[in-house]
Amino acid sequence: MSVCEVCHNHCNLKEGMTGMCMGRICRDGKIICANYGLISSIALDPIEKKPFARFFPGSMVVSVGSYGCNLRCPFCQNHSISYGFESPLSGPPVKYISPKELVSIASSYKEEGNIGIAFTYNEPLIGFEYVRDTSILAHEAGLKTVLVSNGCVSEKIYDDIIPNIDAMNIDLKGFTDNYYTDVLHGDRQMVMEFIKAAAPHCHIELTTLIVPGLNDSDEEILELSAWIAKIRDDIPLHISRYFPRFHMTDIPATDVGTIYHLAEVARCNLKYVYTGNC
Ligand code: SF4
Repeated sequence: MSVCEVCHNHCNLKEGMTGMCMGRICRDGKIICANYGLISSIALDPIEKKPFARFFPGSMVVSVGSYGCNLRCPFCQNHSISYGFESPLSGPPVKYISPKELVSIASSYKEEGNIGIAFTYNEPLIGFEYVRDTSILAHEAGLKTVLVSNGCVSEKIYDDIIPNIDAMNIDLKGFTDNYYTDVLHGDRQMVMEFIKAAAPHCHIELTTLIVPGLNDSDEEILELSAWIAKIRDDIPLHISRYFPRFHMTDIPATDVGTIYHLAEVARCNLKYVYTGNC
C-alpha cells in the first residue's frame, strides 16, 4: 500500500489501484500520474473566460484539460471529464499530447493573440507533473502559463507548481468548513494555505460560486473578502452565479440580484470584484 500525498484525500492505494480523483495510480509501489498528457479538451479561449479580469485582458490562451478531480461538487459543470464516470476506462475520450507538442501547438497560435497555455477544465493539479513539465518548456518558449484550480492540494507539490505558473485562478468556494467537507468533499484550510503560498509569487484571482442557501449570506462573503484583503486587497474576486447541474437539480439558479448584492458586500474589503455568469 502507498499513500498519495497530493491532496486531503490521502488515498491509500494497493498496486494497480487508482485514487479517488482517478488521475493517479499506484505502480511499482509508487503513486504516479495516470492521466499524464491525456488531453480530453483543447481550445483557444479568451483569457476572460478562465476567468481572469486583470491578466493580459483581451488576449487568448490555449486551454487544455484531462480527466479526473479530487473534489465531489454535486453541481459540477464539467462532470463529463471530472468525476461523472465509473473509471478512467469509461471516462472521456483522450489523446496523448506531450509537453513538447503542446508548447509547439501553443506557439503556433501566437499570431491569433495566444499568450500561452492554461491548465483547466478538470482539476489540473491531480496531474501536477504534466503541468510542471509543460510549464517549464512553455517558459523556455516565451509563453505564459495559467492554472485554473480548486487549490485543494498539499504543500508537498508547491515547489513543483508555484514557481512555474504566471497566473492562477483559484476557487475559494465558500468560507465555512462544513460547506467544504459536507457538500464538496474538500478541505477549506488546505485551499486557504495554497492561496497564501501562491499569492506572493504569481498573479492570482479567486472565484466564489454562490449557491442559494449554502454560501450566500452577507456575513460569509464579508468574512471571505476580509480574509483575502489580509493577503492583499487588490486580489480580484469573481462572484459567480450557480446553475442547477449534474447531481444538484433541486436548488434553483442563483438570483442575479443576489450576485450583484454580494459583489457590493465584497467591495467593502476588496478593490476588484467582478460578477460572473450573470
Ligand atoms: S490526488 Fe488523487 S490519488 Fe492523490 S490523494 Fe488526492 S484524490 Fe487521492
